[in-house]
Amino acid sequence: MNFTKTDFIQFLNCPESLWLRKNKPKEYPDGEFSLFVHKLIKEGYEVEKYAKMLFSNAVDLPEDADPELTLRELKSNNLVFFQPSFITTKGSFARIDVLEKLPDGSFHIYEVKSSTKINTTKKHNHIKDACFQTYVLKECGFKVSKVSIINLNKYYIKSGKVDANKLLNIEDVTIKIKNIYSSVVNEINTGLNYIKKESINLNKCSCRYKTRINHCDSFHYFNKDIPKYSIYEVGRISEKKINHLIDNNYTSILDIPYDFELNIKQQIQVESLRQEHAIIDNKRVKQTLENLKFPLHFIDYETYASAVPKIDELGPHKHLVFQVSIHTLQKNGELSHFEWLGKKIELPFEMLSKMQEFTGIIGTFISWHSSFEVGRNKDMLNWLPNLSTYLNYMNEHMFDLEDIFKEMYVDYKFHGSTSIKKVLPVLCKEFSYSELEIQDGTMALDTWGRMITDPDFSDDIDQTRNNLLAYCKLDTEAMVEIYKELLKKI
Ligand code: SF4
Repeated sequence: MNFTKTDFIQFLNCPESLWLRKNKPKEYPDGEFSLFVHKLIKEGYEVEKYAKMLFSNAVDLPEDADPELTLRELKSNNLVFFQPSFITTKGSFARIDVLEKLPDGSFHIYEVKSSTKINTTKKHNHIKDACFQTYVLKECGFKVSKVSIINLNKYYIKSGKVDANKLLNIEDVTIKIKNIYSSVVNEINTGLNYIKKESINLNKCSCRYKTRINHCDSFHYFNKDIPKYSIYEVGRISEKKINHLIDNNYTSILDIPYDFELNIKQQIQVESLRQEHAIIDNKRVKQTLENLKFPLHFIDYETYASAVPKIDELGPHKHLVFQVSIHTLQKNGELSHFEWLGKKIELPFEMLSKMQEFTGIIGTFISWHSSFEVGRNKDMLNWLPNLSTYLNYMNEHMFDLEDIFKEMYVDYKFHGSTSIKKVLPVLCKEFSYSELEIQDGTMALDTWGRMITDPDFSDDIDQTRNNLLAYCKLDTEAMVEIYKELLKKI
């Protein structure tokens, strides 16, 4: 069984989930993050394409080439190799992004990252990642005298043809790796031994003692006894409190003792489940909704971001709005709809102009988790200053409908979440996202990006556009319906 740097980083984050993936791959949940991971891999390829431009006369080894081929190529007179692979006798495997042979016969490893900074977090530690590659090369008998990380320059703004030298940074991390090398080697050996274990406890994992944000998609696989409406759903509950509850075998919200210390919001959530109904601060909801000025424009953006900017004036990973849906509700109840779906990657001047014609500079804009729409409007202010009056108006008159569910409306059926996908089916049972082809923003971004940029895109374009339009439309339709339901309740 091979052990790669991705395995190693997963091991550092959670040995149990790595063991499950390696030893019972069919039982390992594919997970909602797989599309996100797929996007990261694609970004990696995109950046690598430019990183290769920094080197001349390199040997580009096939992506699936085995270590035997690498060993043969290294004996040639070539000095730079893309994608050489190595494997140790214990099974640690590394495919190096760029490897340079130095005049003294030692090697310089370059690792390519699609981020704009070198991450050293537990989830994404680029230094440990590069250290793993160094270890494999050394174990295979090669001398590594320098290690560098190539990543994106966060200040880069595209202007004309992309210049790899301006797009990318190269940072020497040799010393950083030297400082952690021996402890990382210990961790690698522990990881190698761990995945070879014949069995582990599949009935409990360490996240039982951690808050929900730490749980991965395997949580329920390892903790089948955890009931629906569990203690992990209690909003912002601390790890200390989780520990206390678990140690006393309290796993359901209903198990929480009456005298257990919780803040007011948490108490309301618990009370909602005990009483089996929503708890609403009617007065505040009423006041808040009465303050909104008609017409009400329920708005939702979808955005596309690429590691390497595709059009001028954009930098790495900048989000570009390619789609909008707006449902406008007049005081007399009349509802109208505007939608826009871009046909190419461009600054959305035409979209905003048409939006302005539709909404006018009047009324209240309503979105869900509005910091996202506000942030995109701020970006567009920089790129399209001619539309500053409209963009500023939108931001100054933006109301976040999610706030009602953060502060004034609590229902145990939301499972401790205020996401529109959790709130909608509880308030408006006839509306659901489950029938849609496009299920979330990441999928919308990925689908639109492939449709626009991939010459081999094979799905039906009209159908794909309709799927994208249906997803964005439901987001704003959902807000209108939730708003109407709120009016009925107060
Ligand atoms: S829930 Fe936590 S401990 Fe359990 S497998 Fe996932 S990451 Fe590991």
